[in-house]
Amino acid sequence: MIRQTDQPEFQPGNDTGFERKTKIFKEIQVKYKRILLKLSGESLMGEQNYGIDSNRLVEYAVEIKAAVEMGVQVAIVIGGGNIYRGMQAESVGLDRVQGDYMGMLATVINSMALQSALEKAGVTTRLLSGINIQQVCEPYIRRRAMRHLEKGRVVIFGAGIGSPYFTTDSAASLRAIEIEADVVLKGTRVDGIYTADPEKDPLATRYTNITFQEVYEKELNVMDMTAFTLCKENNLPIIVFDMNKHGNLRLLLEGQDIGTLVSIEAASAL
Ligand code: UDP
Repeated sequence: MIRQTDQPEFQPGNDTGFERKTKIFKEIQVKYKRILLKLSGESLMGEQNYGIDSNRLVEYAVEIKAAVEMGVQVAIVIGGGNIYRGMQAESVGLDRVQGDYMGMLATVINSMALQSALEKAGVTTRLLSGINIQQVCEPYIRRRAMRHLEKGRVVIFGAGIGSPYFTTDSAASLRAIEIEADVVLKGTRVDGIYTADPEKDPLATRYTNITFQEVYEKELNVMDMTAFTLCKENNLPIIVFDMNKHGNLRLLLEGQDIGTLVSIEAASAL
């Protein structure tokens, strides 16, 4: 499903390299024109226990570059859980709000790392931050983000929404709605939403489609409630998929049934 946007088609006479490339790739039918890709901070750890695995960064850059080359406009929100989470602060006697800002700064570090990996792979990027850090990134301005996307630049949103007591899942939902993305793609290490935790229950089966309502009723864990409700109320579909499997992102954009689609009207596949 593609949400209606007032996004103009690429205009002649305003022919940047990306727009030319997009015309060439127009024959490749993509299901989603503008995506918001949410990656957790933990996914950047790879096999490590902490921090950033450079191999994982390169792998992600390759996957994202392929999406850009299909003519898809890509925005990214990346978490900070591999470095710091606000919840940790209270357990060691620190102020929660201070901890949340530390978490937001962690997401900026991850965003900068992903930005570098993408630029190294030849992808033009812009990093926009929810808190002002003007030496390293632009401030978040919605119209500017939209313009970058139209020009084919990958936009990375750092520092969440810039407020404590939120998560980067909420930032992903909110930014996706603001930029009129067609879908939120939540890249995880599991290949979708299961009836139970597949790492604990061998009988768990994967949904291919599920409605927002069913997720509430079955108390399935897709995103935190704030993030999930934002998507539901704005009819923004979510796809949970395995980002660590090479080619999955491309296949998904081509319209293959990768992962689990959460939407208003989808019937449960079970
Ligand atoms: N955070 C916040 N506001 C936001 C986004 C993030 O306060 O809008 C803080 C919060 O402490 C969170 C941390 O940043 O725990 C890292 O983000 P998150 O836990 O969402 O990262 P992920 O789990 O995706 O790695």
